[in-house]
Amino acid sequence: MRNHPLITAFFYKLYAGRGTILMLHNVVETEDDIVHPDLEITIKNLESLIIYFKEADYDIISLDQISDYLMPKKKSKKFVIFTFDDGYKSNLTLAYPLFKKHDVPFTIYVTTSFPEKTVKLWWYALATLINSLEIVSFSYLGKNYQFLTITSDEKLQAIREISTIFYHSDDIDELIKILFTPHNIKLKDFTDNYVLTWEDIIFLDEDKLVTIACHTHNHFSLKDLSASDAKWEMVYSKSLLEEKLNHKIKYFAYPFGKIEHASWREFKLAEDVGFLTSTTNRSGNVFFKHHLHLHAMPRVNVTSYQSHENITSILGKRQTRLNKGKRIIID
Ligand SMILES: [Zn+2]
Repeated sequence: MRNHPLITAFFYKLYAGRGTILMLHNVVETEDDIVHPDLEITIKNLESLIIYFKEADYDIISLDQISDYLMPKKKSKKFVIFTFDDGYKSNLTLAYPLFKKHDVPFTIYVTTSFPEKTVKLWWYALATLINSLEIVSFSYLGKNYQFLTITSDEKLQAIREISTIFYHSDDIDELIKILFTPHNIKLKDFTDNYVLTWEDIIFLDEDKLVTIACHTHNHFSLKDLSASDAKWEMVYSKSLLEEKLNHKIKYFAYPFGKIEHASWREFKLAEDVGFLTSTTNRSGNVFFKHHLHLHAMPRVNVTSYQSHENITSILGKRQTRLNKGKRIIID
């Protein structure tokens, strides 16, 4: 009975709101190319999502249009906005042709250390390492770690747990050395292959279907920074994008985006810096009430292991579990 269509429809009606901002990251060609399941979607699943929303009579819109849809009674149809975080090369090579084919808009929230090539893509190096091993063991800060990484579930679990060690580390370079040097994994290879260049971003920006937006410079958890450092992350990346693209950058997404990474102080900072809207990684759909909370707009994460035949349930019933029944997510 858990997935009875009437129950799914009931929760969808209550939870789907005015529309949805989808959060995606990297795109891969086939299931066999999946390296980091938390961050990837196959081109086939991405296309099935676009088709789903078209057939479900949603308006697929750009961030520029959202304020129109948040005015009561202004538009009758629900909206969906596709957003890609960070600035992966596949947003150009795989996603862009698909959005062109369907003539629908999308946004890329660029972390400017990506095109600057100063980013350390340890999360992809980590996923690559784990995919090549059946056991991962290392010592860090006097503690020994060991992870069995035989099945795909074990691999994903190890990626998540070791990522958490990275998030809380004050010395990422030391972790990188401990984990990757013995296996001859070089971070530069990932920076060379995985990220959009400035040339790519300028090319994409010239297409009216593409909105280039801001996602800080270094992709730090802003809540862990001083207010002035957090503000610098926003201002520096915004001005770098504006200088390269020669126009205002109006929209922002908080790195990681959960409550432990960005909250009221960061919402206020994003507004003060001059962004018109900012999106989090709190799971939820967008309601009329969000016109009062434009710097705390929730999104729905889309990754490789979600069933795209079941998107109605993801937009409705799954939100009840993720938010303990709460419908309108603003903090
Ligand atoms: Zn990000």
